[in-house]
Parts: sequence; structure tokens; C-alpha cells
Amino acid sequence: MNTNRHVFAHCPHCRAAMIRQMEGGLERPVCPDCGFVQYLNPAPGAGVIVMRGHRVCLVKRKFAPKQGQWCLPTGFMEWDEDVQLTARREAQEETGLEVRLTSLYAVESGILPPDIPVLVIFYRAEETGGRLQAGDDAAEAEFFALDDLPEPIAFAAHRKVLNRLSAEMADSPQPPQER
Ligand SMILES: [Zn+2]
Repeated sequence: MNTNRHVFAHCPHCRAAMIRQMEGGLERPVCPDCGFVQYLNPAPGAGVIVMRGHRVCLVKRKFAPKQGQWCLPTGFMEWDEDVQLTARREAQEETGLEVRLTSLYAVESGILPPDIPVLVIFYRAEETGGRLQAGDDAAEAEFFALDDLPEPIAFAAHRKVLNRLSAEMADSPQPPQER
């Protein structure tokens, strides 16, 4: 992948022109003056799966990328956050729902268009409070039957998770009680 857009031309600490140098087995941007190494890493985020019976909560994206498309409530970890806090916070911000995480469901890597590698940690969660209301960078928040999802679903990782959920629900004879 082309990383040029993300690479510092000048050292963010001392402003010297960055060079390329072998560091830890890869050629990386390095400052020849102060030794700063720019490590390029995927950005971790958390996604939340909240169900009402066989219906799953999705949000419609208010902003690019994939504006107007649907996905599970998801967001990036803040610097000082525990990933489980990220998951609960994103659920609350985007859907208005307060949730309790019940299990780790999937870990998927992917690309946030155009070129940001991400790692998304998906949790199952159950509602503990709040009221369904889109907020933050969600234009809408709604529950959809897994066999009748809106289109398009924004990201391959989310499609994969929803497909797996659909398959599991199709195999489960007793739908959980509707809330
Ligand atoms: Zn420097």
C-alpha cells in the first residue's frame, strides 16, 4: 500500500528532513538528527452488536467515507481508552443506547477508504438503558431483521460479521424474546 500520504516529510520533533532507514526489519521514515522513527500502524477501533430478537442495530453514516451507507456502530479508540469503553461509548454516542458488553464476537482488519488500515474489535452487547436515537456521526439508527438488512452495508468487515450473525440466527430455532 502506498503510505506516502501518511509519512512525515519533516520530523515532527526537530523539523529535520526525514530519511528512509531500516528499523526493526522494515524500511521506515527516520529522523537523521534526533532519531525519531515513524512507525505506521493500523488504527484500532471497536464495533458493537446490539440485538432485539433477530434484529440488529445499524447506523447510517452521516459523513464520508461511505456516507449514507449502513454499518454497525463503530469508532476509533481514543488514546487513553480501554477498548471495551470505546465500544460502550460508541454505542451510546451513535445510537443513544446504554449497553453492557456480553462477549467478544470478532476481530477484523480492513481498510478505511481511501487508505487507512484499521483493526475493528466487535462485541456483542445488550441494552441496559437509553433510548434509540441517532447521534454523533450517525444520521439514523435503526434495528433491522438480519434477513432483511438495508443496502449497502458500508464495510467488508461489517458485512462479514453480519453474514456470520445471519447464519447463526438462521440456525437458532428459538428467537430470543423481543424486547
Ligand atoms: Zn528529529
